Amino acid sequence: FIACVCKHIEPGNLAGIQHIILVLSGKGGVGKSTISTELALALRHAGKKVGILDVDLCGPSIPRMLRAEGKAVHQCDSGWVPVFVDQEQSISLMSVGFLLEKPDEAVVWRGPKKNALIKQFVSDVAWGQLDYLVVDTPPGTSDEHMAAVDALRPYSPLGALVVTTPQAVSVGDVRRELTFCRKTGLRVIGVVENMSGFVCPHCTECTNIFSRGGGEELARHAGVPFLGSVPLDPELTRSLEEGRDFIQEFPQSPAFPVLS
Ligand code: ADP
Repeated sequence: FIACVCKHIEPGNLAGIQHIILVLSGKGGVGKSTISTELALALRHAGKKVGILDVDLCGPSIPRMLRAEGKAVHQCDSGWVPVFVDQEQSISLMSVGFLLEKPDEAVVWRGPKKNALIKQFVSDVAWGQLDYLVVDTPPGTSDEHMAAVDALRPYSPLGALVVTTPQAVSVGDVRRELTFCRKTGLRVIGVVENMSGFVCPHCTECTNIFSRGGGEELARHAGVPFLGSVPLDPELTRSLEEGRDFIQEFPQSPAFPVLS
């Protein structure tokens, strides 16, 4: 089977990818992996072939969100063969989570080793032909981000999607993220404000439990596009825990318009 898959994978690995989207956030827990996952699912619904590269080495959560935990990555002549997460084989995934012996094992490595793995992920995964590669990065702006940007730069069009929450602290962190993009010459596709309001599980009305609009204001100040607000929806949390397709199952949710 592996030999058969490998025959259809061209060497060069990233050469067959049309667009690369780096998903960034100033801090953890703002929904970066959620947005990466839903973006990949939305692109699949639009008929695109998508790869996800999960380089959040210390918190690889995408295999769990896509119900791919415990699956194995194989080696072939052109590198690692990513895991297909759906029957139609339209979403493929490579994550450090597949290389750990246990899903909750921690990656306790120093910077150079992490950077080397990121470079290896970029050069050695045999993606084949993809319309989009979504790259889920660790929070912040660390050496790992530099390693990812440096390794991916030759394969543009490369752009960054910046995720924030409405609260000021997160918005302050994300300002640093935008500075990182400017300094590294990374095009900002836009800012998404996540956890913007709360969707009542009974009537699906959306209430602003925190402040709102910080992401939009930040985008306006920075002169980058604002892509919209995604409220906190308990159905989205549940869908991600159970590896279900939220966009398909909850089109009535106020979170649907931006996610889809
Ligand atoms: P990060 O990648 O930034 O660390 P995650 O994407 O892992 O954050 O999200 C943290 C938690 O919040 C997850 O349990 C996820 O299911 C939940 N979550 C994120 N965004 C939403 C949302 N808009 N509605 C409901 N739950 C969300």
